[in-house]
Amino acid sequence: MAFKTDIEIAREAKKKPIMEIGAKLGIPSEHLLPYGHDKAKVSQEFIKSLAGKKDGKLILVTAINPTPAGEGKTTTTVGLGDGLNRIGKKAVICIREASLGPNFGMKGGAAGGGYAQVVPMEEMNLHFTGDFHAITSAHNLLSAMIDNHIYWGNELDIDERRVMWRRVMDMNDRALRDIVVSLGGVSNGFPRQTGFDITVASEVMAILCLSNDLEDLQKRLGDIVVAYTRAKKPIYCRDIKADGAMTVLLKDAMQPNLVQTLENNPAFVHGGPFANIAHGCNSVIATKTALKLGEYVVTEAGFGADLGAEKFFDIKCRKAGLKPAAAVIVATVRAMKMNGGVAKADLGAENVDAVKKGCPNLGRHIANVKSFGVPVVVAINHFYSDTDAEVAAVKAFVAEQGAEAILCKHWANGSAGIEDLAHKVVALAESGASNFAPLYPDEMPLFQKIETIAKRIYHADEVIADKSIRDQLKGWEAAGYGHLPICVAKTQYSFTTDPTVRGAPTGHTVPVREVRLSAGAGFIVVICGEIMTMPGLPKVPSAEVIRLNDQGNVEGLF
Ligand code: ADP
Ligand code: MG
Repeated sequence: MAFKTDIEIAREAKKKPIMEIGAKLGIPSEHLLPYGHDKAKVSQEFIKSLAGKKDGKLILVTAINPTPAGEGKTTTTVGLGDGLNRIGKKAVICIREASLGPNFGMKGGAAGGGYAQVVPMEEMNLHFTGDFHAITSAHNLLSAMIDNHIYWGNELDIDERRVMWRRVMDMNDRALRDIVVSLGGVSNGFPRQTGFDITVASEVMAILCLSNDLEDLQKRLGDIVVAYTRAKKPIYCRDIKADGAMTVLLKDAMQPNLVQTLENNPAFVHGGPFANIAHGCNSVIATKTALKLGEYVVTEAGFGADLGAEKFFDIKCRKAGLKPAAAVIVATVRAMKMNGGVAKADLGAENVDAVKKGCPNLGRHIANVKSFGVPVVVAINHFYSDTDAEVAAVKAFVAEQGAEAILCKHWANGSAGIEDLAHKVVALAESGASNFAPLYPDEMPLFQKIETIAKRIYHADEVIADKSIRDQLKGWEAAGYGHLPICVAKTQYSFTTDPTVRGAPTGHTVPVREVRLSAGAGFIVVICGEIMTMPGLPKVPSAEVIRLNDQGNVEGLF
């Protein structure tokens, strides 16, 4: 069977003027700052004026551990938003912006898929409203000011070997991972080794996504630790006096972007932090604004629930005071089969046994999400090749776990294919069953927080870390950072730190390789395994086929 591609469907969208979409949410046109006809930012004054209003209900969409088979979290987030609107609820979608670089490598777009997408898809995946360019500029302004400070006499006594702040750009470019700057003689400064990360890995991105307003943004920017002195005393962004100018550069980027779904329902697309060294959710300001404007807000967290949902709950919800009312765990028959040992090439054939064998991965995520006090429903994102017997096997398994799995056909049919899930989500959210609490209290010592996540969420037996790492954590506790939550960076493919171990393993060990302080964003990054902060391009990058066709349309984005 031949299906239309995501971009073909997106191009056929019957978009409404963005002012009409804003009007649905009661946003007066003078408070929508248009970027073309189909995108707008919401004014700061309007957001401030919402302060006293009651909040709607927050719904998290998360998933099983990702497999190369694909799960469709964003597709389901968008589909559920449309589905809730279809059954007469005022629902708003909140998702992340796409990073530009990976689109030219091998990653698909970030706007959903099939008949559950937000538009304009091409722009969302490219320059959009310029937020990432602003973040790149703000980040690199600080980089330039640090080297400039050293050049003009280094009054702060920065140890050039201990400048932590790197540079960023929104491109997959492995050649820039490790570089030497300031070569070329006296007038160019002091040569030192540094490198580039991709923009979404910038702490500025995480800060923008966790800040409540511009004031909070500037304070957090000031709190960034950029370097250390020879005596290992931290130097802050505030000491470099870059926080004010960075805030100016980020003024517009802080305002949420409003777009629409294929069915003309409102969606905020704002912020896009990495889901490994950062928390992987859209901005707090967009989520909070949406909660003031809709009865339901559907949002997505990156990767599987062990990383994405855990960070959503323990970092974003904890810090922003959000209380999710229900969670949807997206699973697919294909991914269950892969967890059950089937190779990607064989996913097309019916294999109920493999589905059953793969289900424990889903079961673990159900129990984990419930342990935060949030009621759960499973969405089976239907693929064309799924058979009735395979779907029935997933449903039966989920029922045994005390939850319900609902077959959803939003990818093929839009909101008409996801009504059952929408009704179920409303029932869960309105039941008052949610009793959300983060996994660990702020006061818990940092190493114990890591152990709590590893044991309760990953079902590991122990966490191992060198003395130097434990001492570093103690040092941060002494410096007043002990209350911060943990942001684990590990493979998304497994509950363990080994990407090849699928299913629901127990008894493993979590080795901590490195810890990093993100003092501005407000979390401690705990790195377990190899983490890439500047991706490369594959042997045949999709950039080779991306082009403008005779009609001037973008081809090759997907
Ligand atoms: P995630 O957010 O989990 O990374 P997306 O929602 O972005 O996943 O979907 C990834 C890709 O998979 C998209 O190109 C989308 O069109 C495709 N996809 C999602 N659901 C289905 C489905 N039910 N059938 C076929 N393709 C799908
Ligand atoms: Mg996604």
